[in-house]
Amino acid sequence: MIPKHIKKVQTRSRKLHARQVGRQTIVVDSATEAPGRHIVTVRWDPTHGRIVTTCTCNWSNHNGVACTHVMAALELLAGKKGRRLSYWLTEDEARRQRHKRLFLTRGGDTKGVWVTSRPAKAHPRAA
Ligand SMILES: [Zn+2]
Repeated sequence: MIPKHIKKVQTRSRKLHARQVGRQTIVVDSATEAPGRHIVTVRWDPTHGRIVTTCTCNWSNHNGVACTHVMAALELLAGKKGRRLSYWLTEDEARRQRHKRLFLTRGGDTKGVWVTSRPAKAHPRAA
């Protein structure tokens, strides 16, 4: 499953708190769903240029890709490299951004969404 309203998912993901607990493992606090937090694993597949993720939430358990938790986890990892991410349902939309493009999937599945990565804006210097 792919989120229909991917930008809404992205907006919701920004309100979640994520923290990295292992090289590929991020814990994300859930706003709505018991047990209150989810475990996201992130694996980079350089052969296919894909990000392969898993999450413990219901959406992911029903073959969903790109839940709020995965997005929060990826944003955390990107932030550590000074990058920000955006999500797109089609490669065309992603290509139009003229930024680095990645494909996000759950593995064992060809369905996924496109991710673009751009440098995070520098904070305006305090006067
Ligand atoms: Zn999830």
